[in-house]
Amino acid sequence: MPAINEWNFSAGPGALPAEVLDAVREAVVALPETGLSVLCTSHRSAWFENLLAEAEENLRHLLTVPAGHGIVFLQGGSSLQFSMIPANFAPSRCDDPLYIRSGYWSAKAIAEAGCVRPVAVLWDGAAEGFRTLPDTAALAARRADRPRRSTAPAYLHYVSNETVEGLQFGEAPDGADLPRIADMSSDFLSRPIDVAAHAFLYAHAQKNLGPAGVTVCVLDRDLLERVPAGLPPMLDYRTHLQYGSNYNTPPVFGIYVLTLVTRWLRDTIGGVAAMQRINRDKATRLYRTLDDLDGLVQMHADPGVRSVMNVTFRFRDPRLDAMFLAQATAAGFSGLAGHRALGGLRASLYNAVTPAAVARLCAFVTDFAAAHG
Ligand SMILES: *Cc1c(COP(=O)(O)O)cnc(C)c1O
Repeated sequence: MPAINEWNFSAGPGALPAEVLDAVREAVVALPETGLSVLCTSHRSAWFENLLAEAEENLRHLLTVPAGHGIVFLQGGSSLQFSMIPANFAPSRCDDPLYIRSGYWSAKAIAEAGCVRPVAVLWDGAAEGFRTLPDTAALAARRADRPRRSTAPAYLHYVSNETVEGLQFGEAPDGADLPRIADMSSDFLSRPIDVAAHAFLYAHAQKNLGPAGVTVCVLDRDLLERVPAGLPPMLDYRTHLQYGSNYNTPPVFGIYVLTLVTRWLRDTIGGVAAMQRINRDKATRLYRTLDDLDGLVQMHADPGVRSVMNVTFRFRDPRLDAMFLAQATAAGFSGLAGHRALGGLRASLYNAVTPAAVARLCAFVTDFAAAHG
């Protein structure tokens, strides 16, 4: 049986809403507004200029982005931001930026920032197997332990949702007045966020907002005075702001699909607070199903920090993981294998994954457990 689009629990590129896919199918052949294929439309066309403006406007509206924050659409994925952020925002006059090391992706962000300049790990969850996140008290204790310097750390970087391990911050970690920088790649637009509390946040499209190829960065313009002279223009955030994300050829198709997804969020779902309620209900349902199978299934994340987006678990008998995957695939599900770094199983419940699909998955898990428990 081929995979069923609606039952795609992939961690990324992830599911997209059916109505968006329908509109894309049409636009690949001919855009309703222009008659040209979206794949063959100039980034200098009036149509694309309007599209860029709408994409930005929709994001500003959905997330209540303050006027002082700019929005840019870049290529290079979230991984390119790992090195652009320290290159732009951690000049040598600042003390080493602080990073929270809470899982696979924040560890990668730290390693790649370290190629640009020294950085400091404020808190590290590796010893506990990346199952938990620091609370305010833990972060304050780590800061108190740090040697006193005459200059403040450049910023505090964290990953709001650790996609591989399935850990999610309930709210932004206490940054003690440092500029907060967040990788929100796997939970952007899944819930309201306090944009004003962030100097910089970023998310590529391919988990919650579109296809791979475009990354959204939201940045406080005040941070730009830190950008050192002499950066190559493509690696300087000021270039992309100045040219309105149209310095070189932007990913027209990705920005188009992202715009459709923001329209869907605004008009069909009714905004990110409504999206959050739906997402919480989906996650609650799946976690409850898995918790009921305690003797058979082991959850990865500590209950207090479980992600609403990525549910990570394994069968206590590892042979059952492989059997579950094979049977789920045969039934039309896809994307349920855990990340190669962690193994086990993972169900990603991004915005476009419907409550009905989650209900089907829960029923499948329960039936599988009854047959093998
Ligand atoms: C998937 C992911 C990345 C990697 O993004 P690329 O666009 O592939 O570079 C970075 N951060 C987080 C939190 C992710 O989930």
